Amino acid sequence: MTISFSISDEVAGIARRTAEFVRDVVIPEERACGGSVHDAPEPLRHRLQQAARDAGVFAPHVPREFGGLGLDLRGQAVVFEEAGYSLLGPLAMNCAAPDEGNTHLLHTVATAEQRERYLRPLAAGEVRSCFAMTEPAPGAGSDPRALATTATRVAGGWRIDGRKWFISGADGAAFAICMARTSGTPGDAGGATMFLVDAGTPGMKLVRNLETLDEGLFGGHSELAFDGCLVGDEQVLGEVDAGFAYAQVRLGPARLTHCMRWLGAARRARDIALERAASRSAFGRPLAELGMVQQMLADTEIDIEASRALLWRACWELDQGRPGAQHTSITKTFVSEAVGRIVDRAVQVCGALGISADLPLSRLLREVRPFRIYDGPSETHRWAIARRAVRSFT
Ligand SMILES: Cc1cc2nc3c(=O)[nH]c(=O)nc-3n(C[C@H](O)[C@H](O)[C@H](O)COP(=O)(O)OP(=O)(O)OC[C@H]3O[C@@H](n4cnc5c(N)ncnc54)[C@H](O)[C@@H]3O)c2cc1C
Repeated sequence: MTISFSISDEVAGIARRTAEFVRDVVIPEERACGGSVHDAPEPLRHRLQQAARDAGVFAPHVPREFGGLGLDLRGQAVVFEEAGYSLLGPLAMNCAAPDEGNTHLLHTVATAEQRERYLRPLAAGEVRSCFAMTEPAPGAGSDPRALATTATRVAGGWRIDGRKWFISGADGAAFAICMARTSGTPGDAGGATMFLVDAGTPGMKLVRNLETLDEGLFGGHSELAFDGCLVGDEQVLGEVDAGFAYAQVRLGPARLTHCMRWLGAARRARDIALERAASRSAFGRPLAELGMVQQMLADTEIDIEASRALLWRACWELDQGRPGAQHTSITKTFVSEAVGRIVDRAVQVCGALGISADLPLSRLLREVRPFRIYDGPSETHRWAIARRAVRSFT
């Protein structure tokens, strides 16, 4: 088995343009959203996305037939890391969560009509979307089988009832992809279906926007209520009762693309720490010459290299069409914890300055923490990794 990590000239060129775009255009805009991307204004998104088009870096993951650059996952790994150097980079390039994952899901599962109606405007950045799976207890969370939202057959379509929360980007989204139970009861392994629900559909209501530790995702995270929400048969995404399988189609790559973007953010924290360690002196020498600071800097280099190696390997697995579940779980668990360590060390190296708003580190510290919970908490992944390891051994 030959595993190829070679980077084509095309990908290298897009990555270089992305790094320049983020440095010259995006980072100067960071102050424009007053520190919170959750509440950033829609005109900022449009302005940044136009600038990304002008720079030739818009929608790197989107298939060419829908106006993107058509990169495979290995190409995305290189480019998304550069985009993630600023919290606004992925938004500018239309490769932020949850739209990026929804684009992949729609391209893989949607009918030709659904692609024109939902995917084309999403890929072009004309609209945003959300993915509504998680529910308040006792509903779906780490265990998707607990899915309690129901979709009941009615003449010509379905009636959706239930509650969702922590739905990223729901406020202002043009449509939601909602997971609902069409057969069985909570706890059953099957029986879920995905529905495309347009904003403004009677019966789908935004209950509230949640106040959260992180503030780096456009639109924030919302609670949604579905009360007798009627959708037509043409709004079923894929096959009825096949929703859990489609969720894996979305989640496998989406876990990796989160790792790519956060690795870019961690690299920024690393660069800030290195700059500070070289320029600030204590006890008669630069911080960079103090052994325990060197240990922090070295551990960060190790975390970055190990994260990237795991990530590229998992991307290669998925690009080959292999299942890759074990590789994506290992990568997601390692990278989500490594980026936390990297940002935390950068704060420590910078001292009090590190926790101030004069540097982006305190913001990054808050942004990377939830990644150990979404796309599967570390514990759920470790549980799955161990079970697969035991199965392969026995
Ligand atoms: C910032 C953010 C954005 C999100 N965006 C979305 C979104 O857009 N759409 C959406 O549908 N959801 C979203 N979520 C929700 C996310 O998917 C869930 O939080 C996640 O699936 C965990 O579910 P839960 O919060 O209900 O935790 P629970 O299921 O209640 O789990 C709580 C804890 O139990 C432990 N645990 C779980 N399983 C195991 C196990 N097998 N072994 C040992 N311990 C275990 C873990 O420590 C876990 O953190 C988002 C969450 C966050 C924080």
